[in-house]
Amino acid sequence: MLKNRAEKILRTLQKTFTSPKWTTSDRDPFKTLIVTIISQNTTDKNTAKAFENLSNQFQITPEALANAKTCKIEECLKVAGLYRNKAKTIKQVSKIIIKNFQGDLTQVLSLPFEEARKALLQLPGVGPKTADVVLLFCAEKPTIPVDTHVNRVSKRLGLAPKNGDYEAIRKSLQKLYDPKDYLSIHILLISLGRTHCKARNPLCTQCPVNMLCPSRHV
Ligand code: SF4
Repeated sequence: MLKNRAEKILRTLQKTFTSPKWTTSDRDPFKTLIVTIISQNTTDKNTAKAFENLSNQFQITPEALANAKTCKIEECLKVAGLYRNKAKTIKQVSKIIIKNFQGDLTQVLSLPFEEARKALLQLPGVGPKTADVVLLFCAEKPTIPVDTHVNRVSKRLGLAPKNGDYEAIRKSLQKLYDPKDYLSIHILLISLGRTHCKARNPLCTQCPVNMLCPSRHV
């Protein structure tokens, strides 16, 4: 049964990879939003570098970034690519958060899940993945963000429909897991995608869940 297999995959991955050390309460929603905007179409390494550059120049608050010169933000983000668009988005988003939410994104996160998601999706540069990351990581809302690793790995493991789009994958995973495990499965599928279930040449022989995977090449 699929639910049983999904559960076994989760337990095996929990034994294989270390659990995250932080808790959701450590996460500032505005900083998480900015990191996620920077991370679009770039690597984790470049995202971290660009965010470090930005943090060295500015306080990461809506007020500071709304008032920052666009060219200064661009300079910080160059390493992450698409820096002009990202700088523009960051300034716009900061201004809207000040105007609509008095500079406090936690107001949005205190809304019921669907309302909070809708409000986040109305912000410029915020798509479903960014909204779900903020909702899950900063407010423990019941959602599973689908990034490139979660997309690929969940399909190969048969946990999501092969041709499923973002919402189909998210809903399929959410049906299989208990909401208390949403953060865990999100992080563990990413870990598996980075270490074994790579886009090209997945390392199936060394994969910890190969006996539970319908796509294994062993
Ligand atoms: S067995 Fe292969 S295809 Fe399946 S999850 Fe592991 S690495 Fe990916």
